[in-house]
Amino acid sequence: MEHLSNNLAELAQQGLYRSRRIVESPQSINLQIDGKQYINFCSNDYLGLANHPEVIQAFKNAADTYGVGSGSAHLICGHSSAHHALEEELAAFTGRDRALLFSTGYMANMGVIATLVSRSDTVFQDRLNHASLLDGALLSGARFKRYVHTDTKQLDELMSCNTSAKKLIVTDGVFSMDGNFAPLPELSTIAKARKAWLMVDDAHGLGVLGQHGGGVLAHYGLTQNDVPVLVGTLGKSFGTFGAFVAGSEELIETLIQKARTYIYTTALPAAVAEATRASLKRVIADTWRRDKLIHLIDRFKLGAQQLHLPLLPSNSPIQPLMIHDTKQAVMVSNFLYEQGFLVSAIRPPTVPQGGARLRITLSALHEDKHIDRLLDAFAKIHKS
Ligand SMILES: *Cc1c(COP(=O)(O)O)cnc(C)c1O
Repeated sequence: MEHLSNNLAELAQQGLYRSRRIVESPQSINLQIDGKQYINFCSNDYLGLANHPEVIQAFKNAADTYGVGSGSAHLICGHSSAHHALEEELAAFTGRDRALLFSTGYMANMGVIATLVSRSDTVFQDRLNHASLLDGALLSGARFKRYVHTDTKQLDELMSCNTSAKKLIVTDGVFSMDGNFAPLPELSTIAKARKAWLMVDDAHGLGVLGQHGGGVLAHYGLTQNDVPVLVGTLGKSFGTFGAFVAGSEELIETLIQKARTYIYTTALPAAVAEATRASLKRVIADTWRRDKLIHLIDRFKLGAQQLHLPLLPSNSPIQPLMIHDTKQAVMVSNFLYEQGFLVSAIRPPTVPQGGARLRITLSALHEDKHIDRLLDAFAKIHKS
């Protein structure tokens, strides 16, 4: 145990110690912490559905109908009519043959990658992919190649000298800490030419991009034929919990038979599935939420530009402000907290060494005044 306390002291010394704030209110634009109110700029509830009355009501009604626990894994007796209906609706929403629910996005990614490839195969991943995608590749035992962020030329070179039986290209759709989009049309062309599968994890694009929230694939007009494996998470824009994989009949049947993170875990509560069905209706219908986000993103970027803030180029609700130095990122985040704003400092290993940043996220429930107040706080920091 002495070993552990030494490690912890070292983390603290490097400004890498992480701690949790205890939230006393529902997820929303205003959070109560320690009895005080904060304006929230760090949640992934981009559309503001986590606390939507229709979603809450669907959850309550379903608890009355189905109870709370699902009782077992999907393959035993935990797969309810609520889960099944949600899968059919997600398949229709994404324009794919079928969809399969997983308990979390982390488990979906681990399960899919480890099912599709193994030792004699190769996985190609963008260097900035989400941790769950990297872990899925490690779990699979396949050869693991990482390419420079969005560098499709380097990817194609790596693939040209690869002789593996199966090749899988994996990418975030919208990069979780940078907010930019993957170059999907090019990736899809390369995948077809190299006879590889392309898998996209669109945790941050679904709901936010595309006319009806179809995500980064809808944004680029790509289909199941272009991107055979799509992973979506339900804890972000959908405001609930869980994840899904969508694709061909064969893909989904294979996952049901083989994906260990699907087979050996308890199904989500049916009430979560029913709440998600209600939120999916809002995702599709409420185009005003996406329009509002576009407006807020523009307003924030313009204000940040006037203050010469070093934002990364991003057209998504994820707006990263580069600080580089880890301790300084924590200092700025703490200063903002004292001013009543919740903005998270993202540090290594979540981002590369020297890449510490503030990850500012916007929600359809923010108002202009929230954005303006945050910019005012940045103006103050700039002066001091
Ligand atoms: C959040 C996230 C996940 C994990 O999803 P959970 O349902 O929270 O486990 C996977 N991939 C990406 C890109 C994410 O941002």
